[in-house]
Amino acid sequence: MTAAVRRLVAGLASDALPAYVYDLTALRVHAAAVRAALPERAELYYAAKANPEPEILAALADLVDGYEVSSGGELAHVHQVLPQAALAFGGPGKTPAETALALRIGVGRWHLESEQELRRLAALLAGMPGRTVDVLLRLNLPAGSEALGPVALTMGGRPTPFGLDPDQAERCLRLLAAPGFEQLRLRGVHAHLASGLDAPAQLAVTERIVRRAVELAERHAFELTEVNAGGGMAVDYADPARRFDWKAFGAGLAELLERVPGLRLRIEPGRALTAYCGYYATEVLDVKQSYGQDVAVLRGGTHHLRTPATRGHDQPFTVVPVTDWPHPWARPAVTTGRATLAGQLCTPKDVLAHQAAVTVLRAADRVMFELAGAYAWNISHHDFLMHPRPAFHFLAPGELDV
Ligand SMILES: *Cc1c(COP(=O)(O)O)cnc(C)c1O
Repeated sequence: MTAAVRRLVAGLASDALPAYVYDLTALRVHAAAVRAALPERAELYYAAKANPEPEILAALADLVDGYEVSSGGELAHVHQVLPQAALAFGGPGKTPAETALALRIGVGRWHLESEQELRRLAALLAGMPGRTVDVLLRLNLPAGSEALGPVALTMGGRPTPFGLDPDQAERCLRLLAAPGFEQLRLRGVHAHLASGLDAPAQLAVTERIVRRAVELAERHAFELTEVNAGGGMAVDYADPARRFDWKAFGAGLAELLERVPGLRLRIEPGRALTAYCGYYATEVLDVKQSYGQDVAVLRGGTHHLRTPATRGHDQPFTVVPVTDWPHPWARPAVTTGRATLAGQLCTPKDVLAHQAAVTVLRAADRVMFELAGAYAWNISHHDFLMHPRPAFHFLAPGELDV
């Protein structure tokens, strides 16, 4: 955490909390390092669903090759913020209206998730003579989890709404080669099979996807020019200092690309790009001793930062002590060296960290939750209990040599 972030939070009045603070300089430095670690024929897209705030999208604009969007809403939003940005449009259950919108905006890549999507797109294009679109078939493959170790979430190789099972992929590939589908230009495949992978596991999954793509291209005689291997790079909430090894991953991709000349390999991380630049800052309202444990009640809670509740982790945090205590009564404080950090909601699930070690934590102290730049505000149930919304602060990017 930079001094600027800390200063900003220390200077906010109590009723200006909770607040989301995004360090756009840190975001740009990090994204530039990710970019620099990737080989030349690798493209970096940002998965907008991780954090679609306009300031975040714009801060990444010259550091990513494009944005992955998974709904008509994201599509319209990213296009409005960055009209020139390259877009890849995926997601299951694309409605006819979303399909029409994507055609109107002219997305660069379509990630087709079912045979019906393929047929609908072809049917719409039939009414637009001369118009072609570039498509990737989204595959549902086993991620090979046996070899990967513990993974936060696997969606490949099991029943899901995402992508095409191997036999469905065969059918779609035959269709794409058939008369009536000439306006769909097949570029290759897309897959997003797991999340929470470290670099060796991510590399193994990527190799698996590329191997399948090469095999499909040979068998169905299409020119394979692109593989999009998805996102899912791990963020370690238990140990924020342990980062995904982008250098090792990039070196592995370089080797992989040497074996497949002419291939463009695209990745589309979300979490691992933006998690580190965001903070959810708030203050301690009260500290209670409850059946032998210390419970700190914070202004705000999981209705603003839902991720720890949904993923079942403790959100890492830093305490910013406040010395001033203007009241005549004793200041409520943690007595056991450990505290459960709860929010204001009337549910026992509203906990951001369980029995976390703290040296000092008193009413009016500030708490800054880290790793709150991805899947934080935008996946939370804001309106439950009708507490006020947090403020948003974006620390402007300084000059950066990239
Ligand atoms: C969510 C998603 C991503 C980004 O995943 P992260 O775990 O945030 O890196 C990329 N691609 C697709 C298709 C997704 O659904």
